[in-house]
Amino acid sequence: MDRLEADFCVVGAGAGGAVVAAELAEGGARVLVLEQGPQHDPDSFTARPPEMLGRLYRDGCQTATVGSPPILLPLGRGVGGTTLVNSGTCFRTPPHVLERWAEEFGLELDEATLAPCFERVEQALSVAEVTPELAGANAEVARRGAERLGWSHGYLRRNARGCVGSGVCVFGCPTSAKQHTGITYIPRATAAGAQIVTGADVQQIIVEGGRARGVSARLADGRRLEVRAPEVVVACGTIHTPLLLERSGLGGACGQRGGNLALHPATSAFALMDEDVDMARGVPQSVYIDEFASDGFMFEGAAGPPAYAAMVLPLTGERHTRAMADYRRLAQFGLMVSDESRGRVHAVAGRAVIRYDLCDRDLAKFRAGLLRMRELFLAAGAREVYLPLAPGARPESARPRDLKLMAFHPLGTARADARATHGVTDGDLAVHGTLGVHVADGSVVPSALGVNPQLTIMALATRLAFGLLGRAVSSAPAPAGAHTSANGRAS
Ligand SMILES: Cc1cc2nc3c(=O)[nH]c(=O)nc-3n(C[C@H](O)[C@H](O)[C@H](O)COP(=O)(O)OP(=O)(O)OC[C@H]3O[C@@H](n4cnc5c(N)ncnc54)[C@H](O)[C@@H]3O)c2cc1C
Ligand code: SF4
Repeated sequence: MDRLEADFCVVGAGAGGAVVAAELAEGGARVLVLEQGPQHDPDSFTARPPEMLGRLYRDGCQTATVGSPPILLPLGRGVGGTTLVNSGTCFRTPPHVLERWAEEFGLELDEATLAPCFERVEQALSVAEVTPELAGANAEVARRGAERLGWSHGYLRRNARGCVGSGVCVFGCPTSAKQHTGITYIPRATAAGAQIVTGADVQQIIVEGGRARGVSARLADGRRLEVRAPEVVVACGTIHTPLLLERSGLGGACGQRGGNLALHPATSAFALMDEDVDMARGVPQSVYIDEFASDGFMFEGAAGPPAYAAMVLPLTGERHTRAMADYRRLAQFGLMVSDESRGRVHAVAGRAVIRYDLCDRDLAKFRAGLLRMRELFLAAGAREVYLPLAPGARPESARPRDLKLMAFHPLGTARADARATHGVTDGDLAVHGTLGVHVADGSVVPSALGVNPQLTIMALATRLAFGLLGRAVSSAPAPAGAHTSANGRAS
């Protein structure tokens, strides 16, 4: 068995884990990061969807919920975690969500407290608004529709630098323009002395006398690794963190571990336009429409090359063939629901089983959202609109099983709540009832956000790291060493 020692052992190198690791290491701590997946080489990113799905996503992008309806739930795996394959959209936590967290979960996280954390993250990730030129013609279709209907909309803020609008963000950015944590925070962590071990599947958190003593892991070649560390930060993501806590016998007293799962279920519609759209050109997610945010749904860009469109176009047979022959005139846009449905993750034979059923209120949001989606495309001048419904189903009366859903934002399975009887973690993200175990990923986010979560996760991780160092968060510029070369390697 191999043995290593550190002050902090961080499990998972995704959105939350990478941020914690870099901030702790730069704060002078000895940090060891264990990541189950590999270090992906950006030079090998081919932009070909079928090939990249198999390499960058967990289980070849086949992770799905069990329930009504089943929902595809893609997860990244490797250094950078899901940030490596995400769309790059950056939203701060909406103030009304923070107010709700204070009232409902006793979390002292107001806008002013989190502002320096968001500033640090946004600076580290080069977050900036997409320009109209980069947004492309697909975004322009939706923007035109929203303009004509008088709906609130805008260009999204994203973590990209030198983006060329190649349109394949979710298949691995081939030019490393997308500033995911694998090329931002991880190089900073290693430059500050952190050690990263890839292919390390953490099996258990070792707890002795009520406090963390480290973790045990299985390495890719089958060897065992034991890490001795007085502080463990779990950042395996919303689906796998509760399973690691369960295997370690931690965080179960409140009955919430693995429960309270929110997903932001989503879908997308297509339209056939008169003009050439060529949706493969431009940033796929570059425009949002938040006119209906208070009704619980939002529209955000979605698009991709022909191989991707062929997979998600909600048509079959002859109609599918005909629409794909007109690919250049196809436009696409996404619909995301801020869900009230709650699911649960548990392990069966060591694998995650994700149970999630869409509640009536969320079904009503999808029905309303799809009708609005059709209105949007028609206002933009669409000849035909293809809604993501089973053959014969109508948006007004669609049942859960008529919907074709995906979800990209699992949250809440180790939810933070100041009360040990209600949350797996407390307001400082420490696991209730154990010393030295903290959580820094989507699982602590106690409710759906209504907006994309990566910035919220990273801001909470920043606050946690500074808390562990016993320092106030400074919004000062990120230190030197944060820069990466065009191919994404640390320089
Ligand atoms: C296609 C797609 C598009 C998205 N687009 C956006 C977007 O535009 N904006 C946005 O805000 N969000 C987006 N998201 C969501 C966002 O990327 C995630 O919410 C975020 O990355 C989650 O961070 P995390 O730290 O919880 O987990 P992750 O980033 O998933 O990291 C978890 C890491 O832990 C590792 N791990 C798991 N188990 C173990 C173990 N036992 N031992 C060691 N390591 C382990 C995993 O391999 C993984 O690398 C998108 C997601 C997807 C799938
Ligand atoms: S659109 Fe920009 S961020 Fe997305 S893959 Fe292309 S270059 Fe990278």
